[in-house]
Amino acid sequence: MSPRFPDFRLGKVLATSFTGTLSERHGDAVERIPTPNRLVDWLAVSGLAVESCTTAQLERAWELREAIHAAATAAARRDPLPGSAVQIINECSFQGRAAAVLTPEGNRQWRLGLGSASSVEDALSVIAADAISVIAGERDGKLALCASPTCQAAFFDTSQSRTRKWCEMNTCGNRQKKARFNANNRKNASSAR
Ligand SMILES: [Zn+2]
Repeated sequence: MSPRFPDFRLGKVLATSFTGTLSERHGDAVERIPTPNRLVDWLAVSGLAVESCTTAQLERAWELREAIHAAATAAARRDPLPGSAVQIINECSFQGRAAAVLTPEGNRQWRLGLGSASSVEDALSVIAADAISVIAGERDGKLALCASPTCQAAFFDTSQSRTRKWCEMNTCGNRQKKARFNANNRKNASSAR
């Protein structure tokens, strides 16, 4: 039986869903794509199915992921973008051969280049291009950092008020609320004594 891996957290934005495959970066980090096959799984559920993945390709994916994380974090803070991160994102962007195709139903899909050897690179190029459009501010939304101190993930806030605090309500948001609730309870209990 294959070991159980941490579940994926899938958001609506490809680039930040990808950076979310490593969560709790400032706490007990959770690696959600620890093996090449797990990256294959993640790409499949993200509309970028590839046939196979090598260890070197997984390492390249991690490198791109951390570059996007660094650049998106800097963008959210209005800091200058780190040059090395920009370089990795750009390299990944132009090393792939992916094409957007329109389905008869009017949806966009990605067709990755032929030959399984290159398709992880093709998938990474789609993710890199998505990151570029988000960081460049082309899309309707705002890059922000998760308010959870152990997370601090960069996420793309598309709420109308642009005041979202957490990368995900179900995880970081609830955890923060629970922590505050417990702290208040402790405070109340000690003041009652
Ligand atoms: Zn978070």
